[in-house]
Amino acid sequence: MGIPSYLVVSTLKAVLAQRLARRLCKKCKKEREPLPEEIEVFKENNMEIPKGVKFYTPVGCDECNDTGYKGRVGIHELLIMTPSLKKFALKEYASDPLTEQARKEGMRTIIQDGLEKILMGITTVREVLGGGEIKPKE
Ligand SMILES: [Zn+2]
Repeated sequence: MGIPSYLVVSTLKAVLAQRLARRLCKKCKKEREPLPEEIEVFKENNMEIPKGVKFYTPVGCDECNDTGYKGRVGIHELLIMTPSLKKFALKEYASDPLTEQARKEGMRTIIQDGLEKILMGITTVREVLGGGEIKPKE
């Protein structure tokens, strides 16, 4: 933008990223077991699916206009500019290395926040990761 990077870095306190995911309809959501590839995604993001936790599939009812979803839920990633990240940002200009460094320093990623909301039964794997809806086995 033509602004010297030290000016941006010295005044920047935090960066908040937000995405909205559809919220599962409480009335008709249906329990299912997590799939092996989903368990893999949690592992890749340094998270675990606690024993006994169910995933949900949207079904559809009168309450939700047959969509299986009702309302939205925000998923977030908050990058706080710590002194060490400021130092880092002054050396590296691309945003990738900065968020990478923030992750190393313990920042929870937007995917991790989304996965957490899957574990809480609030939203679905599809809403967080994209791809097709997973149907429960009958
Ligand atoms: Zn419903």
